[in-house]
Amino acid sequence: MKLISLFLFSLLPFAVMAQQHPDVYITPMGPLVITPVNHGSVMLRIKGKVIHVDPYEKSVDYATLPKADLILITHEHSDHYDKKALDKIMKPDTHIIAAGSVVAAGLKGASVLKNGESTQWNDIRIDAVPAYNIEHKSSNGKPFHAKGVGNGYILSFKNFRVYIAGDTENIPEMSKLGKIQVAFLPKNLPYTMTNEQFVAAAKVIRPKALYAYHYFELNRDSLTKQLPKSIELK
Ligand code: ZN
Ligand code: ZN
Repeated sequence: MKLISLFLFSLLPFAVMAQQHPDVYITPMGPLVITPVNHGSVMLRIKGKVIHVDPYEKSVDYATLPKADLILITHEHSDHYDKKALDKIMKPDTHIIAAGSVVAAGLKGASVLKNGESTQWNDIRIDAVPAYNIEHKSSNGKPFHAKGVGNGYILSFKNFRVYIAGDTENIPEMSKLGKIQVAFLPKNLPYTMTNEQFVAAAKVIRPKALYAYHYFELNRDSLTKQLPKSIELK
């Protein structure tokens, strides 16, 4: 507990600037600090390493956040691939993992992961998993997110696994993710999930801790009532 308090104390300046407070999880690799930053952006810190997922300057100035050792980008949309935010957190040795669509959109120097591929970075396994729309389409009839274009990511800290879904609906592949301790699921329309889809996805994935992200509005009480008691909505 003492260790957790120390960690939280050291993060206080960042907690104030980020949209939500950091949460600390005990993993086989040590304490993992997860900060939902804003919109689809998440920051993870473990063993002195900083991982940013989809850094995006919506309500946060990334110059106030720690620089990245690793950056994961799910897809090319401007609320996920934001050059301004990237410039503020890049170091000469920052490693970037991204979907191919982000490289096609102009990102240089990234390692590309396709759906179904995985890699290892500093003892952390990273799996790229599908993220796409089934029901929700734009006016031209194409899904907002086509299958195979964007990634969700699973970060495995040994057997402690964090799923960051990206922009997706509750797709069938979610039943094959394996054991997930922490999940970030998007909840907004028309681009991602309805409340019903969000709850259905959570029931399939069954994380211990569940974060709704990417949302415009959130009725926490209503969602909590619909979720199994074993899932804590953060
Ligand atoms: Zn998108
Ligand atoms: Zn988005």
